[in-house]
Amino acid sequence: MHMQCKDVENKFIPFIDEELDYKELKAFLEHIRQCENCYEEYDFYYTMIMGMRYLENDNSKAEFTIDSERQLDEAEHYILQYKILRGEKILLLIAICAGLVLLL
Ligand SMILES: [Zn+2]
Repeated sequence: MHMQCKDVENKFIPFIDEELDYKELKAFLEHIRQCENCYEEYDFYYTMIMGMRYLENDNSKAEFTIDSERQLDEAEHYILQYKILRGEKILLLIAICAGLVLLL
């Protein structure tokens, strides 16, 4: 799945709200890491949206940071973990199948 710039623009808010599914997230990250325009636009959006939310909420949440790069990193980390988990599931499946074969 490849995203065009205009597709990526439509995903800024879902990305910030962590509502993209795995495929969308992966395509989004791949695009944003290669397209300077979208990266800059994302950075701008993120700062604006999080800044607005920060002002709307009471500022007592110590963990609240406005860091567009960190959200990208965390999403990439998630993608990586997702891949590893899927790999482990496949290995487990192979192990179970092998076990069944031995039983029969
Ligand atoms: Zn782009």
